[in-house]
Amino acid sequence: MSYKNYPMVSRIVFGRGSFNQLGDILAPKRLNRKAPFIFLVDDVFKGNSGLTSRIPIAYDDQLLYVSADNEPKTDQVDELVEQIILNHKDRPSGIIGIGGGTILDLAKAVAIMLANEGEAKDYQGWDLVKNPAIYHVGIPTISGTGAEVSRTTVLTGPEKKLGINSDYTPFDQVILDPELTKGVPEDQWFYTGMDCYIHCIESLNGTFLNAFSQSYGEKAYELCKDIFMNGSLSEEEAQDKLMMASWHGGMSIAYSQVGVAHAMSYGLSYLLGTKHGIGNCIVFDHLEEFYPDGVKLFKTMKKKHNIHLPQGICAHLHDDELDIMIDVALGLEPLWENAIGKNWKQVITRSKLKTLYQKM
Ligand code: NAD
Ligand code: ZN
Repeated sequence: MSYKNYPMVSRIVFGRGSFNQLGDILAPKRLNRKAPFIFLVDDVFKGNSGLTSRIPIAYDDQLLYVSADNEPKTDQVDELVEQIILNHKDRPSGIIGIGGGTILDLAKAVAIMLANEGEAKDYQGWDLVKNPAIYHVGIPTISGTGAEVSRTTVLTGPEKKLGINSDYTPFDQVILDPELTKGVPEDQWFYTGMDCYIHCIESLNGTFLNAFSQSYGEKAYELCKDIFMNGSLSEEEAQDKLMMASWHGGMSIAYSQVGVAHAMSYGLSYLLGTKHGIGNCIVFDHLEEFYPDGVKLFKTMKKKHNIHLPQGICAHLHDDELDIMIDVALGLEPLWENAIGKNWKQVITRSKLKTLYQKM
């Protein structure tokens, strides 16, 4: 048995208003005046001078607004890389992603592809990246995915939705400023927050569980319960705690794995474009048989926050469409092995998944 030797984010700042330190943090990392920093910023912040005026642009630095309406695609990464190469003679000093999981994943992927040949789709998988990524910084503006701490960047390619999992994927620097999450709409706050909650449930109830994952998973679970069930937290406390829950949830799955909700949600996302947070919620709502306690509490939280999930999104799908989703879900073998155990193929049949999808 060989244990994973896991890379970590090398530097991290935490605190309300810590975003103001970005300029000081970047300055020593500038390679030369012609090697720009490229800021990939969620376009929800366009015109929000409270944030954009604090981005420390100098010399040839460039700010690119990116939409988070759709999850990142491999050809989107390739286009961004091409645009950066065509616009700047020198290789950038660094890539800074400011946004949710969508933008953070794009920033990681662009930083990798600026240092590696070929197309992003060639690197979907495990440990396919040859050269270290260029310096990259992650600044989350919504909490839950754990993308700020993880070793993957999840991309939808022409053939599959699969991450670039590599030792070069994690950020060199993360800035955790909970103040940046203050404008998140309530339903989105719930969906992305539940991504964290589901990471905990899937990790804590998985067969890969170990003391490392458990220690982070239990902490994140406790924080989630506090945030989503305890009505007496101030808005600031809840923001601070959810940012740390996301971090711990990410650390928990780093050394274990996610499970049924994630496997099935990848299918929804691949076929229907359903986004990760809401997709996980739609699936998880029907997983009582796998996670009875976790789903029970989920339903209570859903009610408490008056969240109404879409119903019947698979009701009108044809068999060939259901087959595509089932193929995507079944392809994620480590997730099933974690959720069910080594004999998972006896339990998780195509007809079982079809029945489950048809309820959603
Ligand atoms: P997101 O980045 O897609 O953003 C969701 C919505 O919230 C968007 O409309 C965005 O514009 C908006 N938003 C973000 N910050 C805001 C703010 N401060 N104020 C107002 N609106 C704001 O959401 P997400 O749930 O964070 O990320 C989902 C993505 O993360 C998926 O692509 C998923 O595959 C990926 N993911 C990656 C990992 C990983 O380890 N790399 C883990 C889980 C999920
Ligand atoms: Zn997730």
